[in-house]
Amino acid sequence: MARFVLVSDTTLSRSYRSVPLLDFLASAPTSAFPGAIYSFLKGPAPPDADGRAALAPYAIRKLEASLLKEFTSDEVVVAHEDHISEFVDDDTEVIGVSTMDPLGLGPLTMSYAVFFETRARAYVQRDFEALLARVNKARAGKKAKLLVGGPGVWELTVRPEELDKNRIDFAFQGEADDIAGDLFRYLSDDSTEKTEFFRGYQTFDANFRKEWEPNSKFVSRYQFSKQFPSLDDIPDIVHPSVKGMTEIMRGCGIGCDFCEVTLRPLRYYSPEKARREIEVNVRSGQSSAWLHTDEVFAYQHGRNYVPNEDAILDLMRAVMAIPGITHTNPTHGRISIPAAYPDLMRKMSSVMRAGRNNWIGLQVGIETGSDRLARMHMPNKTLPLKVGPDGSWSDIVWRGTYVMNKYYWRPAFTVQVGQAAETPEDNWDTVGLINRMSNSVLDNGLPFEFTVTPMQHVPLGLLKSRDFASLKLDQSQLAVYFAAYRHLAKIAARDATSASSDASLAARYVTGAMVGLGGWVMFRQVKSICKKRGLDLEKATRYGLSERRQIPSLLVAR
Ligand code: SF4
Repeated sequence: MARFVLVSDTTLSRSYRSVPLLDFLASAPTSAFPGAIYSFLKGPAPPDADGRAALAPYAIRKLEASLLKEFTSDEVVVAHEDHISEFVDDDTEVIGVSTMDPLGLGPLTMSYAVFFETRARAYVQRDFEALLARVNKARAGKKAKLLVGGPGVWELTVRPEELDKNRIDFAFQGEADDIAGDLFRYLSDDSTEKTEFFRGYQTFDANFRKEWEPNSKFVSRYQFSKQFPSLDDIPDIVHPSVKGMTEIMRGCGIGCDFCEVTLRPLRYYSPEKARREIEVNVRSGQSSAWLHTDEVFAYQHGRNYVPNEDAILDLMRAVMAIPGITHTNPTHGRISIPAAYPDLMRKMSSVMRAGRNNWIGLQVGIETGSDRLARMHMPNKTLPLKVGPDGSWSDIVWRGTYVMNKYYWRPAFTVQVGQAAETPEDNWDTVGLINRMSNSVLDNGLPFEFTVTPMQHVPLGLLKSRDFASLKLDQSQLAVYFAAYRHLAKIAARDATSASSDASLAARYVTGAMVGLGGWVMFRQVKSICKKRGLDLEKATRYGLSERRQIPSLLVAR
């Protein structure tokens, strides 16, 4: 039996049949998508022979590694969700659960809730509640405290009443690599005398300034002490992570005005540190290394966010030189870098062995097709290019996509709906951009490869009240959803057969069929809702296609 038991939100621990972006499915409302299909596509996550998680989300592995600096491997266990009760007894002090979107308030989940005008729970919330029910059953009558942490804790700050409802004793907010041992000891004693921790949480005012909100159910790092671990404080994972995930940096620094990541200090992993973690994953049989970053091209960047080609290529070389690694992809990056530095992309692709059968996925927040909103909310995201002198934002995105595809990178774009100061014209610019790219081809005649997913901003008041149905999308916002899902249906039909790299051939076949059909069914639903709400479907289909603007053949950073 263990002193500290860690367990993951199951929406983060599954393979989703190795289909890129299929993990977005967990954000769908339970009313809009059949549970049996969701469960199949979510895929299995087998335990090891002892009932521990064979693979666990990276955040849990980091927490485990921090605790293992002070406690033994008998005291710290990452349990598989089906085996929690086997590790919990009267000596268990804390059960830690890591979560990303526990209440379904994340922007993707909100995009479905607002579009479908539904108050039905999303799968992320359903699965989180189901997991907590299991944890609470396992600890019934015992002293073990239930602690929730992870990037989704902000949602509990918006709706703190959910803590009692789900019998959560504490929620921890922040990075804990250097203080995990103290935190778990502190919660075990429930000592309120120590000043190492603040009983409350951080929030932000309208100007994105930090505020501290006292609340005895929340624990944060003490306000007047170090707020983030330094690189040296961050331990290497010691057991394998889901998707072969390894961090390469924390923070971003680009400064988009809607993004909390930019407020964190920049810390870069050395190639050696990344290699040590990847080797842990390779030993578990994984051959693909996902490199977690919020902006890969900012890795060791120079002035004005000019990419550091040597540092990026050295890192990629180190990753691909690890015996057993055949594929790697960073998680997030900006589109302006491929647009401005095609040669960097060519070199990266060569090092990463990208090719027709080895596409590199990258999640890219283009946010909008509007020059006005790009300049207003994310002036640095376009750097080293400038909207205006180097073309429109839409031109930069087009060019970046062209370069990425040319070198076998497939961007997964996200766009925002409901941004501050947004006008219908801004949204129509986004529709025009999506349509234009959806109808674009490379020099070899092959169509552009990309996906695009709308993310919804919801005012805090509505998040608190859950009254999403009162938020009505206007015609321009509906048009963004229509254009995005129209393109996704097209991509799903085109790429369905090769979508999954699941180990099982049968699962791959069934998954491919479901992905293709699912894209079509989803678009039919979106189309029908848009039509019912009066959207001019012809306009949304054609918008932006008549203005065949001259694309600058090469955008060169000044
Ligand atoms: S580039 Fe991405 S991670 Fe960086 S501040 Fe902007 S939105 Fe945030």
